[in-house]
Amino acid sequence: MDRKDFIKTLALIPIGGLAMQLNSLKSITDTFERTSRMPVLFLGHGSPMNAIEQNEYTRKFNEIGKSLPKPKAVLMVSAHWETNGTFVTAMQKPQTIHDFGGFPKALNEFQYPAPGSPELAIQTKELIHSTEVGLDHGWGLDHGAWSVLCHLFPNADVPVFQLSLNYKKDTQWHYELAKELSTLRDKGVLIIGSGNMVHNLRLINWQNPTQGHDWAIEANETFKNLIAANDHQRLVNYQSLGKAVQLAVPSPDHYLPLIYTMSLKGEKESVEFFNDKTDMGSIAMTSVLIH
Ligand code: ZN
Repeated sequence: MDRKDFIKTLALIPIGGLAMQLNSLKSITDTFERTSRMPVLFLGHGSPMNAIEQNEYTRKFNEIGKSLPKPKAVLMVSAHWETNGTFVTAMQKPQTIHDFGGFPKALNEFQYPAPGSPELAIQTKELIHSTEVGLDHGWGLDHGAWSVLCHLFPNADVPVFQLSLNYKKDTQWHYELAKELSTLRDKGVLIIGSGNMVHNLRLINWQNPTQGHDWAIEANETFKNLIAANDHQRLVNYQSLGKAVQLAVPSPDHYLPLIYTMSLKGEKESVEFFNDKTDMGSIAMTSVLIH
């Protein structure tokens, strides 16, 4: 039901029978809220070069962007913004941060001029009770954000703000914090975790970049199975999932954005995988759409 029909329905409700009236109103608003809930994404971002390339991954990002209801804003949880404490970016115009070295000029000069959302940053700060959230004016958009957003929303017309990863906290803490973001989904905010569920830069396969290491493929399958089975506890306790997963997640930065995405999944929501491939031997591009 869209807003117009909703208002029309209200006008048709006769006066009298107050309890019944309130009941039917409640079920109407329930449906309305449910249908307007934004999906959640986890995106495997891989190499920053994806920002200026057109390949199978970027084409899929573009397709996903077109298929989603247009968000009011994007809240990005990127692997590349780790802080002591928790912060949300609150500037009107976030800068494009080139947080890498050794890439071509075209990438160093790339700009993604999406506006920020100071209002939503304040609302997010107020929504989170488990920890103090600072309003940040110094960060902007790191490449974990813009290298995928430039394909999802190429016109840079959707406001974007970022939430940092507190590197002092454990995985369970992040899983619980993410739950507090849930109502943003009802306000038209698309929450995106951007990382890589398998990410080991020391074990890149330079000789044969299209061939995933056995352990990388195994870890990717393990994660997909746990995601599909809704087994969030084992995803949180990933350090006890064996050797392949230990090699896949040598540090938590690229894995934690997945934990945020999974934490926001409703029990009855469905999961779709895309870009389910390993790149450079030790990086899984596997991405998840929850709706
Ligand atoms: Zn990265």
